[in-house]
Amino acid sequence: MENVVCTFCGSVCDDVQFDTQQYKGKKFCALGMSKFSAKERIKSPMIDGKAVSYEEAIDAAVDILVNSKKPLLYGWASTVNEAIRVGVILTEKLGGIYDQCSSVCHGPGVLSTIEEGLPGGTLGQVKNRADVVVFWGSNPMEAHPRHPTRYSVTAKGFFVKDRKERKVIVVDVRKTKSARLADEFIQIKPGYDYAIFSALRMLVKGEEIEAEEVGGVSVSKLAELAETMKNAKYGAILYGLGITQSRGRDRNIENAVKLIQLLNRYTRWIIWPMRGHYNVVGAGEVPAWEVGYQYAIDFSRGYPRFSPAEFAVSEALLRRDCDAALIVASDPVAHLPKKAVEHLKSIPVIQIDPFPNMTTLISKVVIPAAITGIEAEGTAYRMDGIPLRVKKVVDSEYWSDEKILHEMLKRVEVRMGFS
Ligand code: SF4
Repeated sequence: MENVVCTFCGSVCDDVQFDTQQYKGKKFCALGMSKFSAKERIKSPMIDGKAVSYEEAIDAAVDILVNSKKPLLYGWASTVNEAIRVGVILTEKLGGIYDQCSSVCHGPGVLSTIEEGLPGGTLGQVKNRADVVVFWGSNPMEAHPRHPTRYSVTAKGFFVKDRKERKVIVVDVRKTKSARLADEFIQIKPGYDYAIFSALRMLVKGEEIEAEEVGGVSVSKLAELAETMKNAKYGAILYGLGITQSRGRDRNIENAVKLIQLLNRYTRWIIWPMRGHYNVVGAGEVPAWEVGYQYAIDFSRGYPRFSPAEFAVSEALLRRDCDAALIVASDPVAHLPKKAVEHLKSIPVIQIDPFPNMTTLISKVVIPAAITGIEAEGTAYRMDGIPLRVKKVVDSEYWSDEKILHEMLKRVEVRMGFS
């Protein structure tokens, strides 16, 4: 099949090929290939490790959920919008907490967008127009390997015809693989992004800086960068977790956005996050169009409340503010702090996932799902917010996330007396 959509990273490449007979892909990067190759699956639904039918597993899951005072429904970044939508409704009916993977990665970017907005653009614009691209605290060569060739470095665009017409700058605390393909690498001290954005704002405005260096970078170097930015025809800062998860967090991004707003008085600049999971954007956009918030949403009072300091997955678990959990397409046991995992281990956990992972080991009910993009279709938002239709390329006996969640929702509604 031609033009299959890769459902691994936020680049959501929609030009890959998949041989349905040999179960093999072409044009994928190594990360995409790892997802689109045959590998170990959760074979059947399970309760306490014993194989059961889908119906029995869903009944057991519903039992746990309706008997819980406040369940946590977490994950969502690696499934499609249709499933996420049902998940949000399910959380609302249960009076639980909806949270998604952004709370441990790009969540600070959401907070800064609420404060300051986001002067953004699409990857198509980056490919066709951007003559200066700055990767700030992001490493596409390792996290989104085809991003540089498809959109941001060697991509041949309408106005920017080839690599020679595009200047690529990497700003990071260490020399990453991406730094090696850049025209310029600027190494900064960890935790100094905010100060450097402030310095750049001063330099773009023509103000003087008395210090000789800021954040490990000489002021003359920063002045050069400010000039390059001002002289760009169309520039893009594509930022990563290096900014969102270092000192300053959402304030770093706010300051970067202020720099972009300032640059837009002289020329055209955009800023955009390099999102990780293929539909982590959907995991935020869908609840935003359903109930107004992107993550860390509590429905226990009958209406949605947004508070990352209380309802983000780690906080809710650390405060023992949930007594059951439904984990969809994620592996919190592998990624969350030890103390948060300790509470997760002490409450009944339901897992929906195609593949076994660390969370499977602590789950009371395990429900295998079809792999979206291979065995199930749906809609996903690429990292720049462009919706793409994800294809089903082979048949399988596994139920899709959407179907499993729909069945759960139907039974929850009956058990809780909703019409
Ligand atoms: S860059 Fe991302 S979406 Fe594209 S093939 Fe690689 S893993 Fe898949």
